[in-house]
Amino acid sequence: MSKLARVVIVGRTNVGKSTLFNRLSKGTKSLTLDQEGVTRDVVKNAVAWKGRMFTLADTGGISLRKTNDIIIGKTRQKALRMMDEADLLLFVCDGKIGVLQEDREISKHLHKAGKRVVLLVNKSDVAITQENVHEFDRLGHRTLLTISAQHGTGTSDLLDEIVHALPHKPEKEETKDSKCNVVLLGKPNVGKSSLMNLLLKKDRSIVTDQPGTTREAISEDLTFHQEDLLLTDTAGVRRKRRVNEKLETLMVRSTLHAVEDADVVLLLLDASEARLSDQELKLAFYAFEKQHKALILVFNKQDLTTEDTKQFLAHSLEMYEYFLKKVETISISCESQKNIGKILPLVNKVRQRHAQTIADEELSALFKGFLKKKPLFHKTNKLIVYKAEQVKSSPIAIVLTVNHPEWFGQSQLAFFENLLRRNADLKGVPIRFFTRKKRRN
Ligand code: GDP
Ligand code: GDP
Repeated sequence: MSKLARVVIVGRTNVGKSTLFNRLSKGTKSLTLDQEGVTRDVVKNAVAWKGRMFTLADTGGISLRKTNDIIIGKTRQKALRMMDEADLLLFVCDGKIGVLQEDREISKHLHKAGKRVVLLVNKSDVAITQENVHEFDRLGHRTLLTISAQHGTGTSDLLDEIVHALPHKPEKEETKDSKCNVVLLGKPNVGKSSLMNLLLKKDRSIVTDQPGTTREAISEDLTFHQEDLLLTDTAGVRRKRRVNEKLETLMVRSTLHAVEDADVVLLLLDASEARLSDQELKLAFYAFEKQHKALILVFNKQDLTTEDTKQFLAHSLEMYEYFLKKVETISISCESQKNIGKILPLVNKVRQRHAQTIADEELSALFKGFLKKKPLFHKTNKLIVYKAEQVKSSPIAIVLTVNHPEWFGQSQLAFFENLLRRNADLKGVPIRFFTRKKRRN
């Protein structure tokens, strides 16, 4: 975690730092970090915004003014060190009050430190703030935003600004180890244990060929979890099930956790049933669209299928074509062992696709080139993509810099996604698109 880009909030007391801290932590996906070794005055969170993750820390009630008080002096030093280690500083001021001497002192300190600073004139909800803004302008920080931490005004622009300003650090390695966590899911009786046994046996048979090497590699690389979709064994999550219950209540919490921890999800299905149940579809959606996991649908019990059941299954899947064409599918039989040997290679392939990085130039050329040939419109206005960048892999996240983000709705982004899928090796892996407005200059 410590290697994530660091954003630190500074400013004198009462300007709204902790309000801002809470606001940014709340509106985004955030988790409270272990606060060990951090003073009580310092609060730290990991915040994710548009596919980028950073830590956000508040220097809290620490005054940066020099002091003879030993304790305050120590916390001041800590705050200074945090600032020193920061990649970006959010310098919060109170627009209602205007520039005070202490703001000038902090500003001077920040200029001297040579860090990237975003000056935030807070409390924009109070009318006088607008009149005071030019005073803050004179502090000479390149980026100034007016916000209301209390009301959330301007905070999404701020988050955009933060992720834009942050250095590109590889995030994957720090948030997860490199082990690939493959999670096997499926209803009872679809053949999970049978498949597990076969896969594990496969490992062992490879081991006898190359003692001491392959097995270790495989067992390190792949951890198979066996989770039941409908069985509720865990105390505390036993609930009555009704037909229309929400996904969360239908599934054992541990299944959801297993998906959260997974890199690749194998959803095992019974092909002889000739249809996917609602729960299975919801789980597939959850894994792929919500948790952004690589997904392989494994249709088992091929030995029991007939021409009729195959056709019936194909027919029942037609309406989910738009989704299913994005994921990988494989037909197997644990009974006849058909295609069992193809599963692990497929897992590896999908995992590599999930972890790939597509060159920004390639992405930009693809989208811009296409729009040039076949423009898309919002009413009579052309949608313009200035730039496309992949900001993250596993899962892949792409930021499009565009003329008007609000014109890029779901259907437009689906269009870009399909275009990309047609042109790159992406089967089985989710892609997240984000848009940001091109800033002047
Ligand atoms: P800190 O000492 O810098 O952490 O400041 P706080 O977050 O504790 O805020 C100080 C005071 O300013 C509190 O009374 C907040 O409710 C108020 N405050 C914070 N943000 C805003 C804002 O956007 N508008 C207004 N009107 N008040 C705010
Ligand atoms: P789990 O509950 O998902 O772990 O499923 P099991 O692995 O225990 O399998 C349930 C039943 O389906 C067992 O009787 C298996 O022998 C059987 N089974 C598993 N895979 C296949 C298959 O490919 N073909 C046939 N015919 N039966 C299978």
